[in-house]
Amino acid sequence: MAKRHAGLLVAALLAAIPFPALAAPAPQMALTFDDLPAHPPYPAGESPVSVIDAIVASLKQERAPAFGFVNAGKGKPGELGTVLAHWRAARLPFGNHGYDHLNLDKVGPAQFVAEIDRNQAVLGPDGMKRLLRYPFLAEGRDPAVRDSVRKALAERGYRIAAVSLSFDDWAWNAPYARCSAQGNAAAIADLEARYLDAARSDAKAARAASQSRFGRDVPYVLLLHVGAFGARMLPRLLALYREMGFRFIPLEEAQRDRFYASTDPARPGPSPALLRTTPLTKPGDEVCPS
Ligand SMILES: [Zn+2]
Repeated sequence: MAKRHAGLLVAALLAAIPFPALAAPAPQMALTFDDLPAHPPYPAGESPVSVIDAIVASLKQERAPAFGFVNAGKGKPGELGTVLAHWRAARLPFGNHGYDHLNLDKVGPAQFVAEIDRNQAVLGPDGMKRLLRYPFLAEGRDPAVRDSVRKALAERGYRIAAVSLSFDDWAWNAPYARCSAQGNAAAIADLEARYLDAARSDAKAARAASQSRFGRDVPYVLLLHVGAFGARMLPRLLALYREMGFRFIPLEEAQRDRFYASTDPARPGPSPALLRTTPLTKPGDEVCPS
């Protein structure tokens, strides 16, 4: 009898579990923001500090973790300190993006590593984490160049910050500044729609690629920039991803997945590339030409 009661209890418990608990787990996404303190151009009335404040407020509102990547050599005097203070006050972590945002494939490994060290010397005392996001995502086309920088990173205790999702969010920033200066509200509304379409298409294509290659959703790492248009769109962008079922997680948690094993610089080979392989369109000089 006792056995039969236990069986009934299990059946009752199973029936009480809501259906979504049995469905596939929610896809996960880590948000990352490049180019702190400043990603120009800015429309009238906006500044690096107002943009960071808007981004921080949206992240707080959504309780979404995020990671920033900083170029200490960028921005006007005073901006770096204020932007970082506001970022850190929200308990958001930050890492190294090179002192002056130089391209490894243009400057070579010696100058590139010197840039990392110079940035580290300025930002390290503020609690900068030893994670490097390569400017232009250029890890070295030449394997010898790539390996020499990876060796320097390993010696310094760095991990590489991967990117698996990107819809070229930066490309909307300059057209937005031009359309703003011209007071062209219709063109701005069009930019907004195109931005969300691109984000949606990119995420759908990345998920399809991940499912077909690995039979699962890897945790995604999204690349964004601290531009004025991105800050304007962030509440709608986060809502879109939530609607698509995404759950936001910290970058370091995402990178613990085996998909990101090669972001350990002691291992050979490049970091994982973007999952989406189909091209997306983005706005250019034809929008609100100056
Ligand atoms: Zn950058």
